[in-house]
Amino acid sequence: MNTSVAPVKEVKDQTVEELSVKVVECVYTEPVPPFGMDYKRYSSVTMLFRVTALVQRFIKKLKRIECENDHLINEELQEAETRWIKFVQRKHYMKDFVAVESKRPSALQKQLGLYIDDKGVMRCIGRLDNSDLLQGARRPILLPKSDRLTELIIEKAHKECMHFGVSHTLAKTRQKYWITHGRSIVKSTLRKCAICKKHEGGPYKMPPMAPLPPSRVQVSPAFSRIGLDYLGPLNIKYNEELKKVWICIFSCMITRAIHLETVQDMTSEEFLLAFKRFIAQRGTPCEVVSDNATQFKLASKVIHEAWNNITKCEDVQSYVSSLGINWHFIVD
Ligand SMILES: [Zn+2]
Repeated sequence: MNTSVAPVKEVKDQTVEELSVKVVECVYTEPVPPFGMDYKRYSSVTMLFRVTALVQRFIKKLKRIECENDHLINEELQEAETRWIKFVQRKHYMKDFVAVESKRPSALQKQLGLYIDDKGVMRCIGRLDNSDLLQGARRPILLPKSDRLTELIIEKAHKECMHFGVSHTLAKTRQKYWITHGRSIVKSTLRKCAICKKHEGGPYKMPPMAPLPPSRVQVSPAFSRIGLDYLGPLNIKYNEELKKVWICIFSCMITRAIHLETVQDMTSEEFLLAFKRFIAQRGTPCEVVSDNATQFKLASKVIHEAWNNITKCEDVQSYVSSLGINWHFIVD
């Protein structure tokens, strides 16, 4: 067992209780991870074992021990895995190790039939010891529930069984390991799996729609509140020649009825003419909503200028002012 026991210096003038406290403090020293590696930085247990095996090989080379193969072999990976299992078991179950070695069974030892194998790994003996199963399943390796290595091992089993659910992943891990409170830790580990999240997650939910503005829902005459848009260009035959025209769409915001006016081009002058034709047929709207198309902005500017007495003609001024149109842009 890789535990450090400090030498006893002074035992005189000390009670049995004081001595026993000291002994316990000495035995339960924090185990050191293999080669001082930080295993919490690894995202894959395979990578962790491979890196550990490479470090092992490097140390062997420093000791001038010959390695037969250029690539890592199974025995080296097994050795690396055993190192990490022993470290994690000693980190979490040191008391049980002491209990098993001193033949003073702890509650966990009685419950799981713990014993330490010839490699120093703590295993469980269940009621399947006489079955034909592999040694890993008959005498699984004990693993703690709250450790990064356990999570990595569960993630590997989960990937090996093609991202199956909790029961399948748990059964896969139990072919080799016995994890205390296994189902809950498997469930919480699988909850973090990005691939499962992607496949099981529902579609993006639309946020609740805002209530419609008063102008859309309050009773008012048709075409009193309108939206503006353009359609086109359309090719038409005019005097045996093809010509491009656009259609200006005036849509009633309440009834959704539409009024169409053809325009020769996209200039503000043409729009104003179409707008006047619309007013002549449907009446003056009290509100106009449009997007930020340049011709609309220019048209709005023209109307605005008319309102601001730039147009000196009294007839036009009184006509435009009497329209009293509120012009809104959707996005500004
Ligand atoms: Zn998954």
